[in-house]
Amino acid sequence: MIEPAYTPAQASGTWVFLEHDEGEFAPVSLELLAKARDLASQSGSRLTGLIMGGDLGVLAGKAALLDLDEVVAVSSPLLDQFTAEAYSHAADAVIRERRPDILLLGATAYGRDLAGRLAVMLRTGLTADCTDLELEAGNGLLLGEVSGFGGGILASIKCETHRPQMATVRPGVFTETGATRATAAPVAMVNVDIPASAHPVEVVARHRKQGVDISKAERLVVAGRGFRGDLGLLEALARALDAEVGATRVAVDEGWAERDRQVGQTGIITRPKLAVVCGASGASQFTCGIDQAEMVVALNQDPEAPIFESADLCVVDDLFPVVRALVAQIESNGGKA
Ligand SMILES: Cc1cc2nc3c(=O)[nH]c(=O)nc-3n(C[C@H](O)[C@H](O)[C@H](O)COP(=O)(O)OP(=O)(O)OC[C@H]3O[C@@H](n4cnc5c(N)ncnc54)[C@H](O)[C@@H]3O)c2cc1C
Repeated sequence: MIEPAYTPAQASGTWVFLEHDEGEFAPVSLELLAKARDLASQSGSRLTGLIMGGDLGVLAGKAALLDLDEVVAVSSPLLDQFTAEAYSHAADAVIRERRPDILLLGATAYGRDLAGRLAVMLRTGLTADCTDLELEAGNGLLLGEVSGFGGGILASIKCETHRPQMATVRPGVFTETGATRATAAPVAMVNVDIPASAHPVEVVARHRKQGVDISKAERLVVAGRGFRGDLGLLEALARALDAEVGATRVAVDEGWAERDRQVGQTGIITRPKLAVVCGASGASQFTCGIDQAEMVVALNQDPEAPIFESADLCVVDDLFPVVRALVAQIESNGGKA
């Protein structure tokens, strides 16, 4: 058996890794914080925000006003830009010293990179891309719900003997509450020494990707394979409805839409007020990305298509004449949907 870094009896507290960029916390970190507060209340444990970076003075002050009991701010000039090696080295040191019971991270590019390395360094388990988190009745163990075998099963994974219990969660799974504190939480400033061997990568320049963020769209029109390649009509519907365009994985794999427009398990979890889904069959890996929409309108020519089980309004027809008529109707109505 692999020796744990510390035992369950030595562990306490729920920690959330607060990812940040240009002075702002990542939305997924704030979403996680809301869920973590729930878990911490249930277990009666302290909720700690872990921030890491170069100069954390201002950000630590900002973190202290979030709905947290404590902030641990780990700083070093070598943490100014994210590198998995330096961040995992520093996080490993502070976690071994402070021994949290649970550590939650956003399943972002940085969070995934950090979580994987950290779990190996700490000799603990990591449940990646959870679709829900809860505490097991009776023993309070963290249960990470994940979909497995291509969405065919929902598995609940726990880590019984090793600590911390680690999980990553994708953006959009939980809802940010916006809860804050009236008075600042205590901040523990921790300076770490990072040896050159733990910092083999130098960030020379950062380029921000220009793209859409469909997770924030209030209205979404989604293309499936039924569109057969030309999304011009869907884009016209998007303009008419003032909506963003989303796509199934098939539509993305075929090159009809960019990757950051993919809805679903390996794409984006969305939460629009309205989702109009056209020509998509309704595979579970897709519908998990629209399950939280307030209203789903599905358009499919197959009356047996599973997408209709996820829809509030079902239109069984060929999508092309229906979407054309819808766009014409909205345009003739002066753009009012
Ligand atoms: C691990 C894993 C992760 C995955 N992640 C994702 C994910 O994140 N997102 C995702 O979307 N998929 C994902 N998939 C793929 C998913 O299983 C489905 O294959 C995919 O969602 C199907 O896309 P589709 O509905 O566009 O195509 P299809 O399943 O081929 O459905 C096309 C539908 O269009 C209808 N249609 C055809 N022509 C017309 C017409 N003229 N008018 C009206 N209706 C018409 C058909 O009746 C059919 O129902 C994943 C799969 C795996 C195994």
